[in-house]
Amino acid sequence: MPTHACDRPFPRHCPECGKVEVQPAAIAYDAEVKHDGRLYSFRIPALQINKCAACGEVLFSNVTDDQISQALREHLSLLSPYQIREALRALGLKQKELGDRIGVAPETISRWISGTHIQSRAMDNLMRLFFAFENVRSVLAGSVPDQNLGAIVPEQVASSLPGLTERPRVVAQLCATRTRFSRLFSDNVRRRRESFELTPTLN
Ligand SMILES: [Zn+2]
Repeated sequence: MPTHACDRPFPRHCPECGKVEVQPAAIAYDAEVKHDGRLYSFRIPALQINKCAACGEVLFSNVTDDQISQALREHLSLLSPYQIREALRALGLKQKELGDRIGVAPETISRWISGTHIQSRAMDNLMRLFFAFENVRSVLAGSVPDQNLGAIVPEQVASSLPGLTERPRVVAQLCATRTRFSRLFSDNVRRRRESFELTPTLN
């Protein structure tokens, strides 16, 4: 694994051979990155690195790390920091409000938006649902959601809930109404989101 270099002018000193011949370069790089408990392998065609012209030593920089993180997000089709930020802006929500509603510390939201951390698939799904559906935002508006939300409930409770005629039934107050699709996301993401469409009858 290449070592890191700090921010100094080029050409830089090579920690391997000692010559001052380290310059920025781009290489094709087969990344193996562990995320969310799994190992992912993917190719980055032009990874920005620093390389010693004398001995060929490759050094990573912060730019390299950022590029690998971004490539991992794209490989996993996770929301980008830009998409999260723009969704919040479009909805008029602050980072802290998003954190409060989905149950994540504001510092965590901040790390997702700054790009220093990458959200899990589960959190990515939750954020997509939250951004896409007014009803999701509505039921998560309080600090604690309705205790029956998503739970199997007895007949007498289920019969009092709108849209539920059979039981036992998973309570979903998120039925039917879909919010307008914003133009924040690509067609690809939009198609993916449609697979999350909620119905009142979850069997
Ligand atoms: Zn060298």
